[in-house]
Order: sequence, then structure tokens, then C-alpha cells
Amino acid sequence: MNRIQKPKGTLDILPSDIGVWQYIENAVRETARIYGFSEIRMPTFEATELFCRGVGDTTDVVGKEMYTFIDKDGSSLSLRPEGTAGVARSVIENGLYAGAMPLKLFYLSNFFRREKPQAGRSREFWQFGTELYGSSSPEADAQVILLANSLFKKLGLTKVTLRINSIGCPECRPSYRSALLNYFSQYESELCDTCRERLQKNPLRVLDCKSPVCSGIAKNAPKTLEHLCDGCNTHFEKLKSLLDVCGVEYIVDPSIVRGLDYYTGTVFEFTVDSIGAQSTVCGGGRYDGLLASIGGPEMPAVGFGMGITRLIQALKDESLIPDLETGCDIYIAPLGEGASVSAFVLAQKLREGGVAAETDVCGRSLKAQMKYADKAGAGFVLVVGDNEIAEGVAELRDMRGGERVKVELTVESITKAIKG
Ligand code: ATP
Ligand code: MG
Repeated sequence: MNRIQKPKGTLDILPSDIGVWQYIENAVRETARIYGFSEIRMPTFEATELFCRGVGDTTDVVGKEMYTFIDKDGSSLSLRPEGTAGVARSVIENGLYAGAMPLKLFYLSNFFRREKPQAGRSREFWQFGTELYGSSSPEADAQVILLANSLFKKLGLTKVTLRINSIGCPECRPSYRSALLNYFSQYESELCDTCRERLQKNPLRVLDCKSPVCSGIAKNAPKTLEHLCDGCNTHFEKLKSLLDVCGVEYIVDPSIVRGLDYYTGTVFEFTVDSIGAQSTVCGGGRYDGLLASIGGPEMPAVGFGMGITRLIQALKDESLIPDLETGCDIYIAPLGEGASVSAFVLAQKLREGGVAAETDVCGRSLKAQMKYADKAGAGFVLVVGDNEIAEGVAELRDMRGGERVKVELTVESITKAIKG
């Protein structure tokens, strides 16, 4: 029969890979805790309209990449392509905006985009994201940037570059928008079909188009920083000075505009060149208009999304993945029929006492069991035969090269011997 394969662009994360995921997840949770961000979990699918209004239907993410389906009651639903809109919906729906401010949330979730799969780009992917609501100050921007930076430092990454920019607010955006429109209109016939179509509606999107022709034209486009109002300018200067006093290096990069419509003011990315074309590990910024755009109150917010698979690649490239021991603490090998029940009970008692204990469940020979214990990475092996059971004592072998010691066949004695 034909074998069924996983859908294109999805990942199996196997037990042999899970160590690095858990290592990163632990580092993420610990960093979030230190910065005072609480975890939030959202539905995997939402009303399609949420993403159309929140993220913007002229963006690639919503316009081209979303997995949308019509439910049996006729409503249009979409697998979440990103986290910010879902969190904003939840903040409104659950009245979180009425609580103590700032509201600091994080998520560690999977997202779905129908993109062309390649290194660092899959159709289901994972992000660590943060959302800070209720502060419009540059200190808030700095705090989320510092959080991401702390995580990279904690993981030992040294080749990460922070790039920042400001794309202006509703006050300065219109003048920038018309400057862009003027500029791109000269090249209208050369732009890709998508950009030609969205040029009038949203000329900013041409700036992050991935087609080589559009990105070539975009290189000489007017820069946002030259069109900022006084408020945006002061905000950006203060952010830079906060990063300076915290000793965080950055590049001001006018080419960063981010691909989602909700951004206003500060935008930033962390890039790692070694991981190839998909070099952005983390992207974020301010989205002061988002909550109101989906029916909530006016409330400023800032945050980022960090791609976990790209982060793993960056760790691999710097050889920063620690040796993670995954084997059981002890393997108990029964020798003979009579011993197998005793071994089974002993292993069970050890587990109840918090020791990762394994024993034979396949009726294998001692030799085969020893081979298995070695392969499975057992820390210790205890061979239990009729004699050992009669005497209540057996020899404990340290599989990582230590001495052999005699232990009593009790939970206390074994636990002491293997855990010290
Ligand atoms: P890109 O320009 O690489 O497409 P993006 O601007 O679409 O990224 P965001 O929507 O800001 O990315 O998502 C934040 C982060 O999530 C990205 O910087 C990246 O690390 C990760 N990410 C986004 N899309 C994917 C994907 N398809 N596969 C793996 N990781 C992704
Ligand atoms: Mg993208």
C-alpha cells in the first residue's frame, strides 16, 4: 500500500531532535519570567476577518499565504499565520486591557503559512512572541528588544545583529506614503504583478517584496527616517539612547519595514547571516493602532515574533547545542523467569520514587537487554537473578565508566547509589 507522507512544508520533530527544542523552550520561559511576561495560549484557528483587518489583506501573509477554509456553518476560518492579531483579539474579548498596565504577554506556538518551503521556511513553524500593551514609551520598545537580546545571550549566540528603523505614525505616514507612491509610480511597469496591484492601496508593501526586480527598485526608494514627524523622531532617538546606555549594539537600517500592516513607529529585526537567505531570526516593532482596528480601545503596544527553527539553525552554526542526556537513570535486567517479576516491581517502585527506571518488557536474553540498555543511554544497569533476589543485593554497573558497587535491592539504597 502507498505510504502516507506528511504534508509538504511540515516538520516531524523526532525524539532525537526534541532535546534542543526543550532546551530553547526552557530558556524562553525563563527569560520571559525574568522580564515579567506571562504566557498566553490562543486558538489555532480564528475568524479570517481578524487577520484581514488586523494583519492587513494587502500583506503577503494574509493575501497569499493563509490557510483559509469555510466551516460547515458557512463562516470563514483561517489557521493562525501569526500571533499578534490573535493575542489582540483575546486582550479585547477577555477585557485584559482593563487590568494593570503594562500588560506583558508571551506565546510559544505554531503558525501556518502556505509559503514555498526552503531552509528556514516551512508551512508550519514555531514562534516565541511577546506583546507589551499599555505603554507608548521608547522604554517599552527597549524592554522587548532587550528581552530578545537577553535570550540570545543566554543561549550563547554571538553572531546576531540588531537592526532598527522607524516607519512613522498616522501623522507622518501620509507624506511618506505619497513620496513612495511618486517614486514607485515611475517604475510601475517593471514591478511584479502583486506590487503593481497593491501599489495604490499600500505602496509600503513594495518595500518588502521578495522579487529581485522590486527589491532592486526599492533600494533607492525614499527612506522613512527622512519623513518622520517630531514625535516619531524623538521617540526613535530615545530608543537609540536607551540601547546605547544598556550596551546593546545596533544598526539603523532604513530597509526594514516589516511585512505586516499593523506596524507603526519602531520596527526591528535580529539577523544572523550564517543561517543563509532566511536570516531574520526575530522581527518586531510597535503596533499602536492594532487594538482599535479590530474593535478594541486605543492602546499602544509593542512586541516581536522569533522563529524557533531559525534560532536552532543559528545555535547549530555556532556549535551551541549542549549535549543533552536523554537516557533512563537505571535499567534493571532480570536474569531468568523468577527474577522478571521482582525486576518489574523494583522498577515500578523506583519510578514512584522519582527515578527513571526501565526493565525488560520484550522477554529478551540478558545479552540483548545489555545491548538495549547501552543504546538507550541508561546511566546504570542492575542485573537481577535468583541469587541476587535471595541475598537482596546486586551489583550496580555505572555505564558512564564509574566503579561497580554493591547495592541493596531497595529504592533507598539504589537511589542513593545512582544520585549520590
Ligand atoms: P520573512 O521575511 O523571513 O518571510 P516575515 O517578515 O514573514 O519573515 P514575521 O511574520 O515577522 O516574519 O515572523 C517573525 C519570525 O518568524 C521571522 O523572523 C522568522 O524567524 C519566523 N518565520 C516567519 N515565517 C516563517 C516560516 N515560514 N518558517 C519558519 N520561520 C518563519
Ligand atoms: Mg514571510
